[in-house]
Amino acid sequence: MRLRLQPRPWRGGDPRPHRAEWPDRDPAPGRRPAGLADPAHHRPAPAQVTPDPEALRRITAERARLAAARATDSPRTDFAAGFLLPAHGRISGVFGSQRILNGEPRQPHFGFDIAAPTGTPLLAAAGGVVTLAGDFFFFGRIVVIDHGHGVNTLYAHMSAQGVTEGQQVAAGQRIGAIGATGRVTGPHLHFGFSWYTTWLDAQPVLPPVTG
Ligand SMILES: [Zn+2]
Repeated sequence: MRLRLQPRPWRGGDPRPHRAEWPDRDPAPGRRPAGLADPAHHRPAPAQVTPDPEALRRITAERARLAAARATDSPRTDFAAGFLLPAHGRISGVFGSQRILNGEPRQPHFGFDIAAPTGTPLLAAAGGVVTLAGDFFFFGRIVVIDHGHGVNTLYAHMSAQGVTEGQQVAAGQRIGAIGATGRVTGPHLHFGFSWYTTWLDAQPVLPPVTG
């Protein structure tokens, strides 16, 4: 598939179509990138690379919603118990890998990817409270869990969600299943790990990935 990332004539609607093709900048000034960027192995359909105005409005709203969830400041201490592997499978993407599109460097990959068949159970990596459960343009079905003091985990591209916002979950509790929703070409978990709005590399705190 050929990615359509070259500039093209503006056909009306939101006057910033190209900026939003890859929503990898934080809408809030002075913050780190929100990290909605996904890795090069996510090869999106053209309609998802160049969203129409309605999709752009949706993407903007979703970015704000995600930023708010990740900024949650709670006194929980679930993070102190450590983290479990959220899914079995194989590593298909690592944190910080650089994407090159049409010869231009883009935002690095702000997650850790585990590929496994659709329906593979997804588990909460630690206990906490679900601060976001939605169906996003790029991330597909997504869940964010607050583990306290700004530590949170994100699970994207799910085929099914088994939790709702505000729900308390235990470490290892099933929260859904791996899928291929959002901007992907194959089923996998995009696992995000962050301290407030700063993405961190989850791999050092997770057990080894096994199939
Ligand atoms: Zn990913």
